[in-house]
Amino acid sequence: MNKKVAFYTLGCKLNFSETSAIGRQFKDAGFETVSFIDNADIYIINTCSVTDHADKKCRKVVQEALKYSPNAYIAIVGCYAQLKPKEISEIPGVDIVLGAAEKFRIIEYITDLAKEPNTRIFNSPIEAAREFVPSFSFGDRTRTFLKVQDGCDYLCTFCTIPLARGSSRSDTIENVLHRAKEVAASGVKEIVLTGVNLGDFGIRDGEREDRFFDLVKALDVIDGIDRIRISSIEPNLLSDEIIQFVARSDKFVPHFHIPLQSGSNKILGLMRRRYKRELYAERVSLIRKLIPDCCIGVDVIVGFPGETRDDFIDTYNFLNELDISYLHVFNYSERDNTPAAGMKGKVPGSQRSDRSKMLHSLSEKKRRAFYGTQIGKSESVLFEADHKEGFMHGFSRNYVKVKTPYDPLLVNELRSVKFENIAADGDMEISEQSEVFAQ
Ligand code: SF4
Repeated sequence: MNKKVAFYTLGCKLNFSETSAIGRQFKDAGFETVSFIDNADIYIINTCSVTDHADKKCRKVVQEALKYSPNAYIAIVGCYAQLKPKEISEIPGVDIVLGAAEKFRIIEYITDLAKEPNTRIFNSPIEAAREFVPSFSFGDRTRTFLKVQDGCDYLCTFCTIPLARGSSRSDTIENVLHRAKEVAASGVKEIVLTGVNLGDFGIRDGEREDRFFDLVKALDVIDGIDRIRISSIEPNLLSDEIIQFVARSDKFVPHFHIPLQSGSNKILGLMRRRYKRELYAERVSLIRKLIPDCCIGVDVIVGFPGETRDDFIDTYNFLNELDISYLHVFNYSERDNTPAAGMKGKVPGSQRSDRSKMLHSLSEKKRRAFYGTQIGKSESVLFEADHKEGFMHGFSRNYVKVKTPYDPLLVNELRSVKFENIAADGDMEISEQSEVFAQ
């Protein structure tokens, strides 16, 4: 009988696509993939270092896995495994911890799946993670997250990602096109391009060979893919030419997610971000000019060391005046081995949460205002497989979340719909979803 493997992923879209890639390796090695509660022989837990309380979360998942399958072999991979292998090895029941350079060779490291007397750790210094390992999530979501870039050479003072994932490196354009075609052939309608610093695409073996814009142009002409979404791009890398190109493209959807992190130039400097807020405002205004219905999402961190009340108000007012569509708000949290952790001007936890609450309300206001501008318009929506209380959801090209009564025939289908009004729960209600949308 085939051995059974189950997966658990914490963190970002990149981790989800990497878990899928590891899953395919297990499948090729003859394993059967089962759900987490299905008494697996081995559990792979893909961890995140950005999540708060990463250690507690990891511990909890291990305990849950052993509850469902007391003799299961437990393997921990991912960013947290690279940064804190020793801490993880002390969690009872963990058999193996693999770092960033080792995680994609997991099959070589696991043996007969007998529980280990002592946790084995394989964790090279992060400089060893130089190879680009492609991955994409497949068959587990309506949209596919296609990883095209990994690592980061920026040194933002709050961030552990360069320590956990290493330096910037990318797939080749040729490989990405090949994979995108494979994904399209499987019936997936939307590809989300992902990377740690996606806009920095194009570095291989430490040398810049091409640019993200080259990849965008190459992907735009391949057949079989209805939609391509850019997951997130740094404002200094979102060039005029990319915005102009997306404005003309039928494939690249009108949605940009652009990390701002702070609307105070003082704090941006302390964060060592590579732009000032004026540049950010210029990006937003060019997008609005060329793509009026574009959805624009923003990442912001509150409570960074040195952020006074006035600095925060500065950020709040800046965001309030910007024509953006939603915010992702993060409470600053100290990370070991980052310059920010040692900076003066620590903001008390209660103030961090107050600021976060204010920005969450602002985000809701912005989102509703954006949805309001869409009422009465028609757009194509890709419906997802969820089914909750008789309803299903989908996303328009410009990332408006719609809901409609569940119909299994709509799953993974594109339909042209008309936006009617905003429901009490904030989702968009629609009509006319019967017509098949053709690109
Ligand atoms: S750009 Fe900054 S925040 Fe983003 S991954 Fe790189 S170092 Fe971290």
